[in-house]
Amino acid sequence: MSSYHFLVTVVFVFGTIIGSFLNVCIVRLPKGESLVWPPPHCPHCKTPFPFYDNMSLRGHASGYLP
Ligand SMILES: [Zn+2]
Repeated sequence: MSSYHFLVTVVFVFGTIIGSFLNVCIVRLPKGESLVWPPPHCPHCKTPFPFYDNMSLRGHASGYLP
Protein backbone atom coordinates (compact mmCIF):
# COMPACT_ATOMS: atom_id res chain seq x y z
CA MET A 1 0.00 0.00 0.00
CA SER A 2 1.43 3.36 -0.97
CA SER A 3 1.69 6.21 1.50
CA TYR A 4 -1.09 7.99 -0.44
CA HIS A 5 -3.52 5.11 0.12
CA PHE A 6 -2.54 4.93 3.76
CA LEU A 7 -3.19 8.67 4.19
CA VAL A 8 -6.56 8.42 2.42
CA THR A 9 -7.53 5.51 4.68
CA VAL A 10 -6.51 7.36 7.86
CA VAL A 11 -8.41 10.51 6.79
CA PHE A 12 -11.49 8.42 5.93
CA VAL A 13 -11.51 6.57 9.27
CA PHE A 14 -11.02 9.74 11.33
CA GLY A 15 -13.59 11.53 9.17
CA THR A 16 -16.25 8.94 9.99
CA ILE A 17 -15.37 9.11 13.70
CA ILE A 18 -15.52 12.93 13.81
CA GLY A 19 -18.69 12.97 11.69
CA SER A 20 -20.35 10.45 13.99
CA PHE A 21 -19.49 12.55 17.05
CA LEU A 22 -20.80 15.72 15.39
CA ASN A 23 -24.05 13.88 14.61
CA VAL A 24 -24.43 13.08 18.32
CA CYS A 25 -23.83 16.78 19.12
CA ILE A 26 -26.39 17.90 16.53
CA VAL A 27 -29.06 15.51 17.81
CA ARG A 28 -28.54 15.88 21.57
CA LEU A 29 -27.32 19.41 22.34
CA PRO A 30 -30.47 21.26 21.11
CA LYS A 31 -32.53 19.02 23.44
CA GLY A 32 -30.24 19.81 26.38
CA GLU A 33 -29.19 16.16 26.67
CA SER A 34 -25.78 14.89 27.76
CA LEU A 35 -23.27 13.79 25.13
CA VAL A 36 -22.17 10.77 27.16
CA TRP A 37 -25.25 9.55 29.02
CA PRO A 38 -27.48 7.74 28.25
CA PRO A 39 -25.36 5.58 25.94
CA PRO A 40 -26.37 5.36 22.27
CA HIS A 41 -29.95 4.22 21.92
CA CYS A 42 -32.88 4.15 19.52
CA PRO A 43 -34.59 7.58 19.63
CA HIS A 44 -38.02 5.94 19.33
CA CYS A 45 -38.08 2.98 21.72
CA LYS A 46 -34.92 3.83 23.77
CA THR A 47 -33.41 0.38 23.13
CA PRO A 48 -29.60 0.58 23.54
CA PHE A 49 -27.58 -0.22 20.42
CA PRO A 50 -25.38 -3.30 20.46
CA PHE A 51 -21.69 -2.32 20.50
CA TYR A 52 -21.15 -3.32 16.87
CA ASP A 53 -23.79 -0.84 15.69
CA ASN A 54 -21.92 2.04 17.38
CA MET A 55 -19.21 1.85 14.70
CA SER A 56 -19.75 4.75 12.33
CA LEU A 57 -20.65 3.18 8.99
CA ARG A 58 -21.77 -0.22 10.27
CA GLY A 59 -24.55 1.41 12.30
CA HIS A 60 -25.89 3.24 9.27
CA ALA A 61 -25.74 0.06 7.19
CA SER A 62 -27.85 -1.80 9.75
CA GLY A 63 -30.47 0.98 9.74
CA TYR A 64 -30.13 1.81 13.45
CA LEU A 65 -28.57 5.24 13.13
CA PRO A 66 -30.31 8.13 11.34
ZN1 LIG B 1 -36.30 1.52 18.40
